Amino acid sequence: MTTTTDVIAIEKDHLLQVYRRGPVVFDRGRGCRLFDTNGRSYLDLISGVGVAALGHAHPRLAAAVGAQAQELLHTSNLFFHPLQGELAARLSSLSGLPRAFFCNSGTEAVEASLKFARRYWRSQSQPTRTGYVALEHAFHGRTMGSLSVTWDDHYRAPFAPLVPGVTFVPADDPAALRAAVTEGTAALIVEPIQGEGGVRPLGADMAAAISEVCARTGALLIADEVQCGLGRTGRPFYSEVLGLKPDIMAIGKSLGAGVPIAAALFTDRVAASASFGDHGSTYGGNLLACRGALVFLEELVDGGLMAHVAKVGAHMEARLRDLATRHAYIRAIRGAGLMWGIDLDRPAAPILEAALGQGLLVNRTAETVIRLLPPYIITAAEVDEAIGLLDAALHAAFGGPRT
Ligand code: PLP
Repeated sequence: MTTTTDVIAIEKDHLLQVYRRGPVVFDRGRGCRLFDTNGRSYLDLISGVGVAALGHAHPRLAAAVGAQAQELLHTSNLFFHPLQGELAARLSSLSGLPRAFFCNSGTEAVEASLKFARRYWRSQSQPTRTGYVALEHAFHGRTMGSLSVTWDDHYRAPFAPLVPGVTFVPADDPAALRAAVTEGTAALIVEPIQGEGGVRPLGADMAAAISEVCARTGALLIADEVQCGLGRTGRPFYSEVLGLKPDIMAIGKSLGAGVPIAAALFTDRVAASASFGDHGSTYGGNLLACRGALVFLEELVDGGLMAHVAKVGAHMEARLRDLATRHAYIRAIRGAGLMWGIDLDRPAAPILEAALGQGLLVNRTAETVIRLLPPYIITAAEVDEAIGLLDAALHAAFGGPRT
């Protein structure tokens, strides 16, 4: 039998060492729980960084993916298959953006968004309108284009030079935004709730300024909903909650509920600039990926999962705010639905190990923030259990009162 030690040892010898992993090997999951190779159970409040929206080993998803594998997995984009159009149509009714380009990861969805913003201006005979404006603390991905609009120098510096022409403005400074977006800006890209940056929803004044500058200058608005979109907040997209009307939207993560698929969605106006051969992806939107996404959307919309997220999310918020009253070092609770950040007045790293010790999986972002991205199927009872475990982990890591 392969032991935890064997798994870690072979990775150490053969994998590019870019991930600092927790010392656990998972080989099974069910609902909101993961099981390690020793059979220990963990309550999963990360869901593979916001991916496993239907939880683990979801019976309908597993059956549909298995059945699809028996029929046909992949044909490339050289030919038609029955599922891409159906999926695009479903996304269109959810988002109001009628055209989709399918790819395999969030960063690719952002690449497509950035490329077609420039493509649009070229089609308008403005080929020099190539600038991008992004927000400080933004995270949009790791490929060259998306990295160029990602803020953190830690990710950027080793790979410079990046795409030129990107201006960053503070995420809470409407005046700086007004000054930065000009008639040379191809697009402004924003996460309606910054995820990696510390779970920070954009403020209403910033949202109003975004709409205003886009209307004034014509700059396209790209909403990066990879993390906060597709029902995670109890609404289809958080840009809609903020009153934003994106021209382009990047989605991914929960879209395939674990099957890798992402998409860029476009208005007809932007999509009209695309020509055959402009962009592409070998795997993008293959039958397996589309099948997974169709099951996810059926559960989300027809199966009432989005309404469940809104309800259980409100319960989670109440429990987190209560937790904050009992630990003085919690300085803020931020988020919506089932996307929450617990901002501490100190580094959050010790909590990860303490939580693991309690059989709870949480994640840290932006140094001081404990991030929670549970599966959408989490129940109120599981939320209560998680809060109890988190309370115990906080106590174990930092001391202070117990529930
Ligand atoms: N955009 C946002 C807002 C994200 O949170 C992420 C990943 O965390 C990405 C893009 C990149 O997605 P992926 O890791 O699937 O490339």
